[in-house]
Amino acid sequence: MKRKIFLTFLIVLLTFIATADKFYIFVDSLNMRTCPSVNCSVVKTLHFKDVVNSTGKAEYTPSFDWIEVEGGWVSLQYIDYLPMKVNGNLPIDFDMNYSDSPLPPEYEPNDLVEIPAEYCFKPELKLRKEAEEALVQMLNAAKKAGYEIIVVSAYRSWYYQRNLYLDAIIKYGPDQTAVAKPGRSEHQLGLAVDLARKDGKCLLLKCFKNTPEYRWLVNNSYKFGFVQPYFKYNILYMEEPWHFRYIGKEAANEFYETYIKSRENM
Ligand SMILES: [Zn+2]
Repeated sequence: MKRKIFLTFLIVLLTFIATADKFYIFVDSLNMRTCPSVNCSVVKTLHFKDVVNSTGKAEYTPSFDWIEVEGGWVSLQYIDYLPMKVNGNLPIDFDMNYSDSPLPPEYEPNDLVEIPAEYCFKPELKLRKEAEEALVQMLNAAKKAGYEIIVVSAYRSWYYQRNLYLDAIIKYGPDQTAVAKPGRSEHQLGLAVDLARKDGKCLLLKCFKNTPEYRWLVNNSYKFGFVQPYFKYNILYMEEPWHFRYIGKEAANEFYETYIKSRENM
């Protein structure tokens, strides 16, 4: 009889572990509270890389989104699913946008190289070697066609991305979609760039879309293996006409045929 009870207990426990989502804290410290509001009292303070188990309950308030975890409530803006395990460099066409798990804080490709300064808005911008070579070819081709395009942002470490994200929450509020959570940015892959006109006009602004430089990029970037993943009809982030991601020529060609060509008529 005791054995049966134990087995039932074990099965219930295993089912619970399998279904409960585990989250990890990605800020230095985070207060767990008795209820889903900053006005509720603090149960305890959690720290970077602490793991909590969700009970499955969530509460969306105009300020922060909250989830219930064992022992209290935490803000969803400062936690994420456990990071994926990565060995070595991720494949060039790796699509992280539909992955449940973010990149781990430690992930940094080992083939990052500096983009020559003449193509950059600021020094020491890096990309993975294959992407950097394709980028230089693309920017040279743009120049030949009469368009001077420079790189504003390239590889960003997990920690750098965290700072951008936390700043964006302060600036635009917790439900902003301008900046990705740490571990969720294509910039950490070392395969994404933010591009701008050399004269700085419409720098990281929507109006970049109305420039001939943007038009040239839309019509030509895929030939060099780059695509603009966050176009108007993507569901993940606000439209980012300046953000281009290297996925390799073959995949970029397919992306162009599927999304971009048809978009001309939308
Ligand atoms: Zn970007």
